[in-house]
Amino acid sequence: MNILTISAHPDDVELNCAGTLVKFKNAGHSISMAILCNGDKGHFEIKSKELAEIRKKEAEESAKILGAQIFVGLFPDLGLHINKESVDKVVDVIRQVDPDIIITHSPDDYMVDHINTGRVAIDASFCATLPNYETKIKKYTKLVPIFFMDISSGVNFQPTEYVDITEEMPIKERMLRCHQSQYTWLKEHDGIDYVEFMKELSKIRGTQCGVKYAEGFRQHLVWGRIKPYRLLP
Ligand SMILES: [Zn+2]
Repeated sequence: MNILTISAHPDDVELNCAGTLVKFKNAGHSISMAILCNGDKGHFEIKSKELAEIRKKEAEESAKILGAQIFVGLFPDLGLHINKESVDKVVDVIRQVDPDIIITHSPDDYMVDHINTGRVAIDASFCATLPNYETKIKKYTKLVPIFFMDISSGVNFQPTEYVDITEEMPIKERMLRCHQSQYTWLKEHDGIDYVEFMKELSKIRGTQCGVKYAEGFRQHLVWGRIKPYRLLP
């Protein structure tokens, strides 16, 4: 299968679903990561342009560990709005990847880039199936299942499916540590150690399903996107 994540910022996947991606990869599936925003607002000292370049490199390093294809920074941070321009850009990513599963943010996530990414991903994945919805890439894809990844710290998110990532945790941590520029930022801006933050949530999700570390998901349950069997590893 082709697995496509559509996330807002360069470290969102590593925080919330990288263990599952490692599992998919080890089972022989292909992974593509679309990171819609360029991460250019996440620092106190480094200015936008330079920061976007740094964060692109960090994302590429992390994707390399996973052997994933990536698309980074289609919009600046806080510059992704729910409109046709945004949908069209994401339609072209979807048409390029031709995914079998999409993982994105929950519509009730905590900040606007995440919320808009989730909404645009849902809309774009529908538009991408329509032959008469014309974008740069002249092809149409199938309607596929969408899963919402967990929300930071698990607030307001009750998973309905769990993936045991106990064995994948070391790789998930290595991927997250690629995002070095965020270490001081999240410490100073949010008062968190991002590795501990990620592990705490994985531990809680693990406790909930009887393993050491897990990731939680909710499926977007709408007509046309549901399968009669489990899709997550
Ligand atoms: Zn984010």
